[in-house]
Amino acid sequence: MPSAQPMQALHGLPLGLLGGTFDPIHLGHLRLAEEAREALGLGGLRLIPAGRPPHRGEPGSTAEDRLAMAHLAVAGNPALQVDDGEVRAQQKSYTVLTLERLRAEVGPQRPLVLILGADAFEGLPTWHRWIELFGLAHIAVANRPGYAPHGRRWPATLSPELDAACRNRHTANAADLRAAPAGRVMPFDMTPLAISASLIRDLVRNGHSARYLLPDSVLDYIAAHHLYRK
Ligand code: ATP
Repeated sequence: MPSAQPMQALHGLPLGLLGGTFDPIHLGHLRLAEEAREALGLGGLRLIPAGRPPHRGEPGSTAEDRLAMAHLAVAGNPALQVDDGEVRAQQKSYTVLTLERLRAEVGPQRPLVLILGADAFEGLPTWHRWIELFGLAHIAVANRPGYAPHGRRWPATLSPELDAACRNRHTANAADLRAAPAGRVMPFDMTPLAISASLIRDLVRNGHSARYLLPDSVLDYIAAHHLYRK
């Protein structure tokens, strides 16, 4: 009979959070989630589709469609869950509000890790109440094709305000994410995949194949619902 101890440890492992417009969700997102789970020692990971993303124009598909596609993409993988909190919320999808909600849900001790691609990380100082994010979660930053690799990024290419915010938080050791509920910044490398949702929308709009850039189930959904057509 297993003791209760490993189960308690499991519940205490960091919870990864991957927000995005997911318009549509693609294999870049899913590999990011999978490689983050391994590299950061996460106990689970939630994908959080934005309802009303504040940093961009209207998405090419509705929040309900983007949520449905996210559910299709994670089907069969118990390590990945979809959080519909931002889609259901009335207000704009500010990450700080989501982290406050999740912090209240998991309690003060469990580590939360906000996972960002390099592009999203560079834009962090434009986010609503961005400095408060560091008090709510760790931040893990993945490389992304088209952006400077971490080796050249840290700290030289960070903007002065991002550099100042991250300077004493940097770690390369996932154990540091388990040792505190929030506050560290950890770059990690994933398999570089030059896949983007905008590329997929362009392919579909122009009548080209997007197969093998995203799960077949999501591609079928796009076709069945006539998404991203001209
Ligand atoms: P779009 O092309 O519409 O701007 P996107 O492909 O960048 O969309 P988002 O939903 O905006 O997708 O991204 C959600 C998160 O996933 C962001 O943190 C982003 O940096 C990250 N991400 C998306 N695609 C990749 C990728 N191919 N490699 C690494 N990170 C990625």
